Amino acid sequence: MDWFKRKKSTIKPVEKKDVPDGLWLKCEGCGEIIYKKELEKKLYVCTNCNTHFRIGSDIYIEILFDGKTFKQFNENIKSTDPLKFTDVKSYKDKYEATVKKTGLSDAVITGTAKIDQHDVVAAIMDFRFMGGSMGSVVGEKISRAIDMAYKKGWPLIILSASGGARMHEGVLSLMQLAKTSSKLARLSSKKIPFISILTNPTTGGTTASYAMLGDVNIAEPGALIGFAGPRVIKQTIGQDLPEGFQRSEFVKDHGFLDAIIHRHELKQRVAGIIGYFKHNNPTKKA
Ligand SMILES: [Zn+2]
Repeated sequence: MDWFKRKKSTIKPVEKKDVPDGLWLKCEGCGEIIYKKELEKKLYVCTNCNTHFRIGSDIYIEILFDGKTFKQFNENIKSTDPLKFTDVKSYKDKYEATVKKTGLSDAVITGTAKIDQHDVVAAIMDFRFMGGSMGSVVGEKISRAIDMAYKKGWPLIILSASGGARMHEGVLSLMQLAKTSSKLARLSSKKIPFISILTNPTTGGTTASYAMLGDVNIAEPGALIGFAGPRVIKQTIGQDLPEGFQRSEFVKDHGFLDAIIHRHELKQRVAGIIGYFKHNNPTKKA
């Protein structure tokens, strides 16, 4: 007799869309039905309640950088599935299907760009690619972007949108925390500014490494920012969580963020911060 027998799961994974197709969208914040073209003009921010819709790396690149100045590098690094991991389906199949569906090679795009004419190195994460999970490719691409910033002496911008480390790559994903953090320490030793932008959501290993290591850490309004998610914390401590727990405004009030910046002002404010560092660099000779 089997005392313990695992039933085969009947739960099917739900496909989630960030900005669904169709002409009209319903705002998750206020329930208002918004014409998609109108939302696009407002950079995917609800004019009624200020909810910042989740957007892909391609739109962030358009919002943040001058004209067509973004030049991607290391675009062809792909995961080798070192653990031969399988859950509902094999990691390899899932990975390939995601590449096909999103047109992305992994959950981060790295490149050089100009922001209000300042040269920068940028890494823009994309939640559409397996929940923006950080595996060895994300870690490697971010490390190389940090190296590029170090070499060129240009400020670094990392925009995070991530559910955390990619469990399909186990400990190799966790190693990316140490790798990226040590590279950032090296960048810091050369006094090159790093601006971290946290968008909805930035959680798990991403928060526990580069996302919180910026010289300036900024977030979009209402973004979920934390290590473990609210449900896990609630179950662990057996208490209700305060209102707005782990949202940008709460995180800022508790000292983990320097500023919350509306998407409409993001480019201008980030460029302003870089300009400030340029003109107030303590290492620069007068
Ligand atoms: Zn709304």
